[in-house]
Amino acid sequence: MKIGVIGAGAAGYFAAIHAAQGGAEVTIVEKTSKSLAKVKISGGGRCNVTHSAFEISNLSKNYPRGEKFLKKVFRHFSVRDTVQWFESRGVSLKTESDGRMFPVSDDSQSIIDALQSTAYHSGIKVVFNFAVQEIVKTDTCFKLIAKDKTLEFDRIVVCTGGSPKMEGFSFLSNFKHTIEPPIPSLFTFNTPHEPIRKLMGITVPDAYVRLEGTKMAYRGPLLITHWGLSGPAVLKLSAFGAKWLYDQQYKANAHIRWGNDWTEDWLLQQLLSFQKNHPKKKIHSNALLGLPSRLWEHLCERSEIGSDNLWQNLPKKQFNKVVQNLFCYIVAVEGKTTFKEEFVTSGGIVLDEVNTETMESKLVDGLFFAGEVLNVDGITGGFNFQAAWSTGYLAGVSASQPK
Ligand SMILES: Cc1cc2nc3c(=O)[nH]c(=O)nc-3n(C[C@H](O)[C@H](O)[C@H](O)COP(=O)(O)OP(=O)(O)OC[C@H]3O[C@@H](n4cnc5c(N)ncnc54)[C@H](O)[C@@H]3O)c2cc1C
Repeated sequence: MKIGVIGAGAAGYFAAIHAAQGGAEVTIVEKTSKSLAKVKISGGGRCNVTHSAFEISNLSKNYPRGEKFLKKVFRHFSVRDTVQWFESRGVSLKTESDGRMFPVSDDSQSIIDALQSTAYHSGIKVVFNFAVQEIVKTDTCFKLIAKDKTLEFDRIVVCTGGSPKMEGFSFLSNFKHTIEPPIPSLFTFNTPHEPIRKLMGITVPDAYVRLEGTKMAYRGPLLITHWGLSGPAVLKLSAFGAKWLYDQQYKANAHIRWGNDWTEDWLLQQLLSFQKNHPKKKIHSNALLGLPSRLWEHLCERSEIGSDNLWQNLPKKQFNKVVQNLFCYIVAVEGKTTFKEEFVTSGGIVLDEVNTETMESKLVDGLFFAGEVLNVDGITGGFNFQAAWSTGYLAGVSASQPK
């Protein structure tokens, strides 16, 4: 069995290695002159390989697109398998406090070395500078056609990653697969006209952010930057709200609650009690509720409280305004900025057309898919690589099985 894997990324290597272990003769074709380029730069050069979400039901919740599909795929290969696979090749992983897992070396090269050395010892050939322009299926084989060369295989695993443009999928045009149009996921919010930007550098550990007019809301650390809002709460919202935000042309109101668990009643009680116990204290200069003092001052200004106002003199109107700004601070989002650390594109091969037990196309026998070429994407934290390892494993194992 001769198997051609298109794309020398994380999914391509994993598919190739497991196909070779099943006894197939495997060749990876890669359009550039480098393999595993994204692994190299991932996680700021440390490679966030996976996430310590060991329960499949928890793990799959981190995929805005592909949750149900991946739930089935993870039964074959999941986080524990990833950890074991790398450890058995001498790459120990460590878990950071937020659940992200990295090689102990803190160097993505350890991951690359493990993949390349396993591929080499499995007899996998890598052909560089081979950009597949077309795939032709004949009665006997698949032909991979590049500019000045054609290679023939019995089966193909497509692992070409995500593409921000539809043209990136044009080499598949001989097949009737549906492509979900690519749209960005994992970005931060621009708030060019909001005074909050002057608070850049401030982080609130557990905020709650909601998109007005939707039920989409996420909690987590929130970071104020010089261009707007960032941090895990916003990145999650950008991923799960990717399509909605795209349709709104990235113009929306975000509602921020500065403490995830706060209720309006609770806030009211907290402020009343402080007012009662400290009537002569200045409001501006005594930050409450564990908020950073610059943020507290900003919330006071926004509530039209003078800098010398004492708690005992606070009119009811301003009192209510503070509660409002603590509970539901409204920010106008106008545009987005790509999150540099880890960005993905949603869109790709529609999942209904792929068999979850094998990763084989339901439309074309012998054609398999793995990785970000599928309409699958995860939030930041190692989930995108986990999807690449799991789908790559399953595609590789299945492609090497006789029919
Ligand atoms: C800066 C950055 C940092 C990231 N950090 C992390 C992280 O720490 N953790 C995490 O989980 N995720 C991270 N991600 C996301 C992760 O890198 C991707 O989800 C993952 O690489 C997808 O793997 P893949 O094999 O499907 O695709 P890719 O890694 O994109 O590989 C696809 C390969 O196919 C090749 N190819 C494409 N078209 C053709 C063609 N027609 N012919 C031949 N070859 C072709 C490409 O050149 C490429 O080498 C990061 C992404 C970026 C951009």
